[in-house]
Amino acid sequence: MQTTVLVEALTELVAAAFVNCGMAEGDARTMADVVVAAERDGTRSHGIQRMRGYVESMESGWVDPRAEPRIERSATAMLSVDAGNGFAQIALSRAKSDLMMLARQHGMAALTTRNSHHFAALWPDIEPFAEAGFIALTVLNTRPWTTAWDGTKKVLGTNPMAFACPRAGANPVVWDQASSTMSQGDVLLHATARRPLPLGAGVDADGQPSTDAAAVLREGALLPFAGTKGSSIAFMVEILAAAFGGGRFGFEDRSASVPGAVTTNGGQFLLLLDPSMSGSDFAARVESLLATILASGSKRLPGDRRYAKRQEAETVGISVPSNLLEELNGYGRR
Ligand code: NDP
Repeated sequence: MQTTVLVEALTELVAAAFVNCGMAEGDARTMADVVVAAERDGTRSHGIQRMRGYVESMESGWVDPRAEPRIERSATAMLSVDAGNGFAQIALSRAKSDLMMLARQHGMAALTTRNSHHFAALWPDIEPFAEAGFIALTVLNTRPWTTAWDGTKKVLGTNPMAFACPRAGANPVVWDQASSTMSQGDVLLHATARRPLPLGAGVDADGQPSTDAAAVLREGALLPFAGTKGSSIAFMVEILAAAFGGGRFGFEDRSASVPGAVTTNGGQFLLLLDPSMSGSDFAARVESLLATILASGSKRLPGDRRYAKRQEAETVGISVPSNLLEELNGYGRR
């Protein structure tokens, strides 16, 4: 059964759950905006189905809901944040305005975040930067779910990456994807609904192709997208998000063996570029490329599906599974 709920009402419910776990009101609102944005825009893999994981991770002590990020200017145009074992989005919210100021001064700026947990979609982190006129790229690492370079056991994360390109007078083009064929959240949706996975999404404990979502998550592994090319991307993400930023590699995270720990303690890398300092007629060049692509038969741009969903949700509300809404109400009352 589904229930329709208004965006603001859902945001308050989600924020109440974070507050109940000990988070300060402002930070709870930051987290709720991210979770509800995913549900609103139809990224259901990273919407309210994730609330149990957030709550259990905080209640078990695995994540510190009161963590105060420490921000350091580690180079002329680079900020390094120790998130203090809190959520990456709180660290980003503290560093955001300084990062944009550095990018405006130097044409580019980088942010590394370590000792942080990111359990959400990535596009909410960068879409606002593109709305402010920046090109933005971000990657983060997760605990191992995926095989690497023809291996049979999980060793790399589903390591997502997202890219946002500003446009003059139009929504930014934003793509956001896992480096596995399917995100772990999508596989979880299949497991919950007892729906078979498409072939090529995962392998069983023996490294054989499997369509059993629960078994793939429990003892098998997800597969990288486009074979070895996806592994190469996942490897690059580990280097940028963990080796460069000083965080843990996915395989060093202990969450799989700590009761209640669902989120990964990893790292994130974010790069901003200011097109106004590139010397090119950036806005016109982007439009020229997009027009050519659309004339070639592409039906839409990445992000367009979300923008349409968003508009619908803001008008009529979001249709959410009633059991998840009930669960959410429970978290807010506990
Ligand atoms: P999808 O395969 O659903 O989508 C990937 C991208 O391709 C999206 O930007 C999507 O745009 C775009 N796209 C899809 N179809 C088309 C099309 N026909 N034309 C143009 N563009 C298209 O993403 P994934 O399943 O790989 O990832 C889902 C989410 O999981 C992401 O938000 C990711 O950040 C998140 N994730 C989070 C992790 C974490 O630990 N925090 C780990 C791994 C993944 P559109 O949205 O408009 O459809």
